[in-house]
Amino acid sequence: MSSGHMVPLQRVVWDVGGGPPARSAPRAVPLTLREARGVVRRMARGAQRPTVVLAGVDPLAPPGRGIPVAGLVEALTSRGFPTGLALHPTAAFTPRSLRAWAAMGVQHIVLPVDTALDSHIPRTPAVRRTDAATLVYAHAVVAAGLQLYATTRVTALTAPDLMGIAALLPSLQVSRWDVSFVVPTATVARSEPLRAMRLERVLAWLSRYAASAPFPVTTEGAPHFIRHLHPQPDGLTLAPMVRDAQGMLYITATGEVWPGPDLPLSAGNVRLHAPQALYRSAPLFQRLRSAAELGGRCGWCAWSQVCGGSRARAYALTGDALAQDPHCAPVILPVAPARRRRSQTPP
Ligand code: SF4
Repeated sequence: MSSGHMVPLQRVVWDVGGGPPARSAPRAVPLTLREARGVVRRMARGAQRPTVVLAGVDPLAPPGRGIPVAGLVEALTSRGFPTGLALHPTAAFTPRSLRAWAAMGVQHIVLPVDTALDSHIPRTPAVRRTDAATLVYAHAVVAAGLQLYATTRVTALTAPDLMGIAALLPSLQVSRWDVSFVVPTATVARSEPLRAMRLERVLAWLSRYAASAPFPVTTEGAPHFIRHLHPQPDGLTLAPMVRDAQGMLYITATGEVWPGPDLPLSAGNVRLHAPQALYRSAPLFQRLRSAAELGGRCGWCAWSQVCGGSRARAYALTGDALAQDPHCAPVILPVAPARRRRSQTPP
């Protein structure tokens, strides 16, 4: 997507720092509530209201760890930002606290569903088992009048559970299912993500499931899902996929603005710049959105304009955020020559 046809900013993921500190430079200073409110005021000067998902939320975090969430929620919802909460896995909740979030205008709660109910996958720090407590939580969210967004973290270990999860979700009354394909990071080993051909098979199955699912199905880390949803590419009419720097951005607990949660490159800090300004004008964001800047097949394939590949995976595996997505299977389709850079002809 060229910067001339910029995808509107649709989603802001904001780490409020309620979890253990890990993602930011050790000596960086976390945002205070006062600073966060100032960020929201600046965001509200924009014409659009992206959905803001507060991540790493722990309402019972010790004082001083993380931004007090209630204050930030109030700042967001009072200015009309659709707001969601992704509780930190160790965070406590009660039906009463869920009703309080609903009364404050929170739109949705993100529920991790990483395994099927009858799964044989062992619990590890990276795999949260779906159990009776998950079901109780899900029902409490819906009963409180909040929408429930399920999110599933897919690795080579957990992929076999996807069909079981898909069968479970309608009974939980989820409003959306976000299937997140992990990319290697400091905390994710290179052996965990699905490789290209297996990822293609999973995406093909997911597209068939999505066609009749009673809720929208979205992906993270796999914008080439669009190839399965729309086998005949048409970059002129299809809505581009939301991916790093394209329709979304990520704010760290210390205010750095990254293109996505797994792409630790900063375009600037919200203490100095409005997030929308960085999204719109920061060279990092502009380059990551521009198909003409992307390397390999991501620069010339027929879906370049609406996909562009996972920039986080390209960065993690090659060190170059503009490189070809290494886990997109080699589906070779021509692109209109007028949209192809001279240096990016197919091999
Ligand atoms: S080659 Fe890149 S742009 Fe094309 S479908 Fe694969 S990931 Fe998307």
